[in-house]
Amino acid sequence: DRALLSGARDAEDGPEAALRPQTLAEFTGQKASRENLAIFIAAARGRGESLDHVLLHGPPGLGKTTLAQIIAREMGVGFRATSGPIIQKSGDLAAILTNLQPRDVLFIDEIHRLQPSIEEVLYPAMEDFVLDLIIGEGPGARSVRIDLPRFTLIGATTRSGLLANPLRDRFGIPLRLVFYTPEELTLIVTRAATLLEMDITADGAAEIARRSRGTPRIAGRLTRRVRDFAAVAGTARVDRAAADAALTRLDVDQRGLDAMDRRYLRRIAEHHNGGPVGIETLAAALSEPRDTLEDVIEPFLIQEGFVIRTPRGRMLGREAWAHLGLLPPTAAPG
Ligand code: ADP
Repeated sequence: DRALLSGARDAEDGPEAALRPQTLAEFTGQKASRENLAIFIAAARGRGESLDHVLLHGPPGLGKTTLAQIIAREMGVGFRATSGPIIQKSGDLAAILTNLQPRDVLFIDEIHRLQPSIEEVLYPAMEDFVLDLIIGEGPGARSVRIDLPRFTLIGATTRSGLLANPLRDRFGIPLRLVFYTPEELTLIVTRAATLLEMDITADGAAEIARRSRGTPRIAGRLTRRVRDFAAVAGTARVDRAAADAALTRLDVDQRGLDAMDRRYLRRIAEHHNGGPVGIETLAAALSEPRDTLEDVIEPFLIQEGFVIRTPRGRMLGREAWAHLGLLPPTAAPG
């Protein structure tokens, strides 16, 4: 099923909260972002100030929410979370902002989905820590300015290019999260297995890690599923063979691709001779929203060399032909 391998959150991820690292030191991977954050947090704390606003961008499931929570904890301040689509009226945002304590972290997930009228409220709040409210209607309406505590806004988005420039420019600390290496994911799987009281060998953990699409959320999910298979099969200790058997039954292939990924690649191979093909054409043919293709499916396929983005559309890379067991047309790209 798609949900299994999508980095996006779903209802079954309740248990993942238990797997969240709590401190920057416990947070595996993202070395560059982690090191920069450690410095900015230490500096802000030293001055007794709020941390500058932080923009976290990268595919779903890479740890944006986790990092935001860690930042609040390391700053020793409160954490409030909301998301772009939840905030319907500027009054909703005003209520949240006026309830913040000095230096608190306000986390806005999917910040690219904020309505423009609400973004307008955010600008003076971010820049000058004030809120301009219109009270009343008609000729009696007047504007009042309310001072806000100095707070830290942490925005999360799948692609920073989705943000309006004025909003993006107001974040002093933009951080791009990248896919995790198999070694980093092996550490994450091993830690998850320990928390789940699951007996797993080093190569069993490495097998799950290798097939997790570079994404901790998927690694956690696959670890829980492999544990279920092992429990039902009466396997006390998950080794590489047990992990492989479970992942194969879950339709996760050797490179960590699922049925949807392969459908996407096949479409370009079989209907477009390897491309280029436009994203809208693909979205229509696959009955998937364009955003899902761009945010959830493509980033990993591109990083692994299965797909190449060109100005004329998507093309299959050499890796993809080999993986699908198909012969590229002569003079194939990639
Ligand atoms: P995002 O907000 O980017 O979609 P989350 O922060 O919700 O991602 O992370 C999804 C899950 O992946 C978390 O619940 C946590 O269990 C796990 N996770 C994320 N980053 C890490 C990490 N660096 N180390 C260990 N686990 C992580």
